[in-house]
Amino acid sequence: MCADCAEGVDSVPMEPRRVPRKQIPTPVQVDARPSVILLRGLAARCPACGSRHIFSQFFRMKDRCPRCSLKFERVEGHWIGSLGVNTTVVFGAMLVALMAITLTAFPDANVPLMLVVEVSLALLGPLLFFPASRMLWTAIDLLMRPLAPGEIDPRFVKVDPYRDRPTGP
Ligand SMILES: [Zn+2]
Repeated sequence: MCADCAEGVDSVPMEPRRVPRKQIPTPVQVDARPSVILLRGLAARCPACGSRHIFSQFFRMKDRCPRCSLKFERVEGHWIGSLGVNTTVVFGAMLVALMAITLTAFPDANVPLMLVVEVSLALLGPLLFFPASRMLWTAIDLLMRPLAPGEIDPRFVKVDPYRDRPTGP
């Protein structure tokens, strides 16, 4: 290669390459396994940091986690998903109860017991599962959509896609 050629290559102005910012999954960002994030949600704790002081009363929750400052309503309409989780779990429980009663009473049918159990589950299930369904949905949402920069206190982020992005090639 001659000196002129090398000079020519060097003098071509380099356009800055537009590289889409790499998304880092939430489990990597907060250094917790997906199962741990889901279990925290199921226990009505903050999925990101595990804080348990989310609900001031049974049906009244805080907007943000008091520990890691995660805003739970990540997008408008976020809680529609928790409604879906709640409905699915309660229907699942009703189905399991129905099958259990049917199998234990087979070949007879214990209709009064079925009615009492199913109606109780239908009425109380969604209320009792309310806190867990909200945090479980937030956990699922965090697993599907990684944390955006600034969404939680940086002290709770082990790998930040902006702060810790590799420099150079
Ligand atoms: Zn938190």
